[in-house]
Amino acid sequence: MVNDTEELVIYKYSWNTRYCGFASSKSAAIEGVKKHYLYGEPEENENETVLGTQWAETQDEEGWRVEPHTIHAVKILGDLRGSFARKETVHLIWQCLECNQYFSDDAKEDIVSPVLVTCSCRKNEKFYLVEFERGGNGE
Ligand SMILES: [Zn+2]
Repeated sequence: MVNDTEELVIYKYSWNTRYCGFASSKSAAIEGVKKHYLYGEPEENENETVLGTQWAETQDEEGWRVEPHTIHAVKILGDLRGSFARKETVHLIWQCLECNQYFSDDAKEDIVSPVLVTCSCRKNEKFYLVEFERGGNGE
């Protein structure tokens, strides 16, 4: 079976050259930076692993940056397990087509199909658009 792919623009965020995550919009990527465990003022924070809060405006500056990337995500089917109605922890189950590893990602009640996910089993990140149904076992 050959899976369809979809071309998407994602926003990767990083501290200098240290890649920290991605989001599907620029504003969500900025939110991702602000919630990242490495974001914070080192001198105000007892947690010394934080790197800073400044944004890099040029390529040479130190700081956080958000950059758009065009990717090709492979469409796969996932399974939403658990019940929001019964206050259970709900997970989105999906399988990487490259390494066959199963993932069980926490799902929030506002989850909408499809969800963009990634597996880092290859040097080049592999992205998947996981489509799933709500209203079945997932509710
Ligand atoms: Zn994989």
